[in-house]
Amino acid sequence: MSKKVIIAGAGLGGIATALRLSSQGYQVQILEKNHQAGGRLNQIKKDGFTFDTGPSFFSMSYEFTAFAKDCKIDLPFDYVELDPLYTVNFGGSPKTYYLYKDLKKLAAQFEGIEPDFEGKMRKYLHKCSRIFHDTVDVVIKQNFDSLFEYAKALTSVNMAHIPVLFRKFDQQVNRYFQSNEARQIVSLVAFFLGRTPFDTSAIYTLLSYTEFQHDGYYNVKGGMYKIVEGIVKELERRAVDIVYNTEIVDYKARGNQLLALVDQHNNEWEADAFVINADAAVFRGKIFNREAYSIEKLDKKEWTMGYLTIYLGIEGKLPQANHHNYFIGNNFSDYATDVYKNPDRLQKPYYYVNVLSKHNAECAPEGCESLFIVCPVPDLRYKPNWDDKDEIVNSIVQDFSERIGVNIADKIVSRTIYTPEDWQSQFNLHRGSGLGLSHNLWQIGGLRPKNYDEIYQNTFYTGASTIPGAGLPMAIISSKLATERVLNYLTS
Ligand SMILES: Cc1cc2nc3c(=O)[nH]c(=O)nc-3n(C[C@H](O)[C@H](O)[C@H](O)COP(=O)(O)OP(=O)(O)OC[C@H]3O[C@@H](n4cnc5c(N)ncnc54)[C@H](O)[C@@H]3O)c2cc1C
Repeated sequence: MSKKVIIAGAGLGGIATALRLSSQGYQVQILEKNHQAGGRLNQIKKDGFTFDTGPSFFSMSYEFTAFAKDCKIDLPFDYVELDPLYTVNFGGSPKTYYLYKDLKKLAAQFEGIEPDFEGKMRKYLHKCSRIFHDTVDVVIKQNFDSLFEYAKALTSVNMAHIPVLFRKFDQQVNRYFQSNEARQIVSLVAFFLGRTPFDTSAIYTLLSYTEFQHDGYYNVKGGMYKIVEGIVKELERRAVDIVYNTEIVDYKARGNQLLALVDQHNNEWEADAFVINADAAVFRGKIFNREAYSIEKLDKKEWTMGYLTIYLGIEGKLPQANHHNYFIGNNFSDYATDVYKNPDRLQKPYYYVNVLSKHNAECAPEGCESLFIVCPVPDLRYKPNWDDKDEIVNSIVQDFSERIGVNIADKIVSRTIYTPEDWQSQFNLHRGSGLGLSHNLWQIGGLRPKNYDEIYQNTFYTGASTIPGAGLPMAIISSKLATERVLNYLTS
């Protein structure tokens, strides 16, 4: 009989690893805390509306096609390129910027604001592309067995990028652009990593290249949850069992072997190897009781922001809004510097609105829109009490209404709110941090929680808080790196 692997968690990292391992002939079983798969990449169906709960930007599509090829399947969902990629509106201004990949069309919007925007953007993107191509294979898509190996990989990166290592995202962008508008808009992608342009390393300007040139953003037909449904269908075809409502709370081990994971009903789940898709830092602390990952130690690490997420069913159409829309204020640096720790800022929040029904009519009843709003907020260390969530949500609804010139407050027929408390309790995310551990230079690559266990030789990790990091494409890469480790172990 083939060897058995148990995966704890049915997030994208978990189900992608399951499909890879089952493609290699292993018997795979997934244990998931919640009642459905997907983890943060999830879905709410309510009052006739469909909402994606977390990720809404689908990027680096080639990682998904490569994944399907590795698993010898056709990609089990469809996607169509978005153009414009997204829109940006500054508070107090009637102007909406449309972020086109076509740099001439994009530059036209900066006329009179940023002279020679096109030339500057080309130069900026050229540098971003070089950072991307010089790091992606040697640093991002690699397993490292030791710090020495990681350091060696870093030294193989083109030395021309070293100064970038010592800059922040905003500092790099500011070298190319002078206007506040161009600087802020080009920096927005730093928020993808769950922090701000002021504390994200300039190395991640490579994301500007992925969004504007290397790939772009896509609408996943039917909503982002189709990614999960497609993969789960493939797993069912391969008889991979997903056991829902099963939370791992304990374990059994002998020497350097994990023998079983133990769930909340005291069931013991045995296997030859284990892959943990629950947060790699939290699980080590909470379940394996590792001192280095105690709550106190975790609190001292740098985490990505919390998110207040709002799911609104609206009666009536909103032609003013696009698929992805950013609404930012006019105190960008003050706001971004304070957003982690100062809950008072939330009265004048910055937020993002996704109109899922724009390109996916089936996600809302006829004549209605399905809206998903994300507002970065302090995690539970800095704002433990969310009794004021309705007040904050109302202020966002009011601001959004003013910006699009339609009072949506009267049109809301479905309303669901997740605070960092909900994100924490649903998915075991430390203090409700949305994307897991941040990507500062001390928490990436060989310095991030490893994807193999320090004690149990048959235990591995996949997902956002291990390598390479947060985001859907990274979860796919993480599944590949974890699978390599499992295969090495099971075949050695
Ligand atoms: C609001 C928000 C917006 C985002 N937007 C984007 C975006 O636009 N684009 C993008 O690419 N990324 C985005 N992300 C990031 C992306 O969602 C994550 O990086 C990715 O989904 C993480 O996948 P994962 O498999 O690592 O973890 P998870 O999705 O967290 O999966 C882990 C799974 O493990 C389960 N689990 C936890 N503990 C246990 C336990 N003890 N026992 C059993 N099961 C357990 C959880 O229930 C969960 O199902 C966003 C995230 C958030 C929160």
